[in-house]
This record gives sequence, structure tokens and C-alpha cells, in this order.
Amino acid sequence: PAARVAGLGTSVFTEMTELARSTGAVNLGQGVPELPSPPELLADVAEAVRSGANQYPPAHGAPALREAVAAHQLRRYGLAYDPRDEVLVTTGATEALAAALLGLCDPGDEVIAFDPCYDAYPAGARFAGAKLVAVPLVEDGDRFVLDADALRAAVTPRTRVLLLNTPHNPTGKVFTPDELDAVAAVCREHDLVVVTDEVYEHLVFDDASAGAHRTIAALPGMRERTLTISSAGKTFSVTGWKIGWVCGPAGLLAAVAGVKQFLTYASGTPYQEALARALGGVEEWAAEVRRTLGRNRDLLSEGLARAGLRPYRADAGYFLQADIRAWGHGDGVRFCRELPSRAGVVAIPTSAFWVRPGAPSHLVRFSFCRSEDSVRTAVERLGSSG
Ligand code: PMP
Ligand code: GLN
Repeated sequence: PAARVAGLGTSVFTEMTELARSTGAVNLGQGVPELPSPPELLADVAEAVRSGANQYPPAHGAPALREAVAAHQLRRYGLAYDPRDEVLVTTGATEALAAALLGLCDPGDEVIAFDPCYDAYPAGARFAGAKLVAVPLVEDGDRFVLDADALRAAVTPRTRVLLLNTPHNPTGKVFTPDELDAVAAVCREHDLVVVTDEVYEHLVFDDASAGAHRTIAALPGMRERTLTISSAGKTFSVTGWKIGWVCGPAGLLAAVAGVKQFLTYASGTPYQEALARALGGVEEWAAEVRRTLGRNRDLLSEGLARAGLRPYRADAGYFLQADIRAWGHGDGVRFCRELPSRAGVVAIPTSAFWVRPGAPSHLVRFSFCRSEDSVRTAVERLGSSG
């Protein structure tokens, strides 16, 4: 194998989902939703297939979906994108991330990301020959917060891209307005491109207390330097469809599109046709998903606290962190390998998301995008296993 794949190993999601399958444990590991999808969306995909939407769409994406994405950005964030050359449909957010890093970075360039981060970021930087520089989010009580001084100190003349993820996987953090301002200031000052991964944009639970999701692209001087990535997978509970998209100024978007055309050329036609319609009514749909996820988050946090596994606050998304030390464990990897036999539950060691060596090993990520039944069962099992 080439040097660029050495040490990539098997994704932790694959390992842990396989462990859940082979042991029959409740899977609170990989973020695979057991939540409903809009029935009209499912019917529309079937109809699109039946009516012949089965050949290559335009490489940039079905025009209807590109228009729906542009309309969504305008309606929600007040940002205008031209669907002809400022919106690109991709094979999930994952392809968008890889194509953005490959399209923007030369070998030796540096990419800043906040640690812990989604595991596709270091892999994507590596494929591009770039160096991922990790700026740790800092624990503050039951939250993780930005250290703006550490961010500033991480910038070098080789820094090209800042990768932001809000709402954040694996912590459930939503970057606050002040934090976003601070990140934007650094990017303007050092002329960095921001790639912002907002796949959980619709899944912020308590809007009043946490603040709704905000996009950094809407801050002064940021639209021109920001690529915004999202995906249908989380919002509509269709993670297997792998339809994502990128919005950005035409010059930056062309770099991503140039790579995408030779990675996959285009992405699933019938899904795009159906999602174009669903995105128009996403606000109504997402309100229901948020309520379900918020209830599950509460059930899981309370259950973990009762079991002695101290939960951190999650304001959004699918995941929360727990501190496992009260169970006599400091090693999340061993803890997660033993958890199926000890408690009949699968979780993911947060160490899989840390880039910098020596990061804390006592954190474990639990997913609550499962059915209420699954979450209740997991919590009961954990409660009798400590
Ligand atoms: N970014 C983050 C932060 C995610 O959690 C995920 C989903 N696992 C992705 C990107 C990938 O999204 P998609 O399935 O659309 O490729
Ligand atoms: N995003 C999901 C997670 O964090 C899984 C993605 C994947 O399996 N690659 O669990």
C-alpha cells in the first residue's frame, strides 16, 4: 500500500458496529439514526426511480437540488449563492470534505482543526499531503470551549485552511457567537479559507439557551473565504443515501468541483430529485427530529449520571461525552472493547477523534440518535453494570 494509507487502519465506526452486531449489544456507537424520515421524501425517491431518474445527473448536481440548497442558505442565513456555480452536490459531506482539502491544499500546507475532530479531517488532510494542526477545545466544567489564543498561536505562514465543525462531532458543542467571531477574526487577519462542516445545522435542541446554529459564512468578510458543507443524512435520517453539498464563492467552489468530477463525477440522481422537494420544508420536519433527539439526550445524560459515568453537556447533534473514570477505567479504548460483555452496550472511544498525542483517554462518546427504546435499554443496562 502507498505511504498515505499506512496506519489508517479500520475506521473505529466499522470496528464498533461490527462488535455490536456480533455481541447483540445496544449500539450507541456509530451515529446511525433509528429515527423516522419524512414519508413524502421516501415516496418521492421511489417515484423518481420509477419515472426514470436513473442516469447521471449534471456533474454539479441536479438543478432542482442546487436551487433548493441556494434557497435554503438565503432563507436561513441571508446568504445568496448562485445555484449555477456556487453550489455543488457531493456524495455525502465526506466527499465534500475530501474534495475541498484536495482542491485547496498543496503538499506541505497546514490545515487547522479543533481537537477532538471528526476522523475524516486528518485523513483528508493527509491525502492532500497537508499537515493537520490540532487546536484543542478546552474542558470547562461540563462543556468544551474555544481557546482563541491557542488558535492564534497555531497559525503559520503555511496555514491555508481552517476546518470548523459546528454543531460539533463528537462533543455536541455549538460554537457561540463570540467564539465564531474570534475564529472569523483570525481567518480574516491571516487570509485563511474556512471549510465549515455544518451537517448538524438543524439539530440544535434548546434554541433559547444554547442559541440557534449560526454559520460563520454570514459574518463580515467571511462569505468570500468560506466553503459551507452540509448533508441530507442527519437532517432527514437518511445517512445511507450519501447526498451532501457545498456552497461557496465561485472561485473556491470551482476547486472543489474540479476534484469531485474525478472522484465520483456525480451523485445519486433519484435522491437528489426527492431531496430538492424535502429541503423546502426542512424547518418543520427538523423541529420534530430535534424534540426526539432532545428527549433522548436527556434520557441518556440522566442515565449515565446515575450509572456514575459523568456526562458532558451536548447542545446539538447525535452525541455526548462521558467521563469513565468512576468505573475504575482511564482507558476509553479498553473500556469500549469490554463494554458489550460488561453491560451489553457499544460506545466509541473519543480517542479516535483526537489528533494530538497525549490527549485525554478517559472520554467515551455515546450516541443518542437511536430509538427511545434503545436508549432506555442501554441506560438500564449501564445502571446495573457499574
Ligand atoms: N461531518 C461530520 C461532523 C459528521 O458527523 C458526519 C457524519 N458521520 C459527516 C461529516 C459525514 O457526513 P455524510 O454521511 O454526509 O458523508
Ligand atoms: N458520522 C458518524 C459518526 O460519527 C459515522 C460516520 C461513519 O461511519 N463514517 O458516528
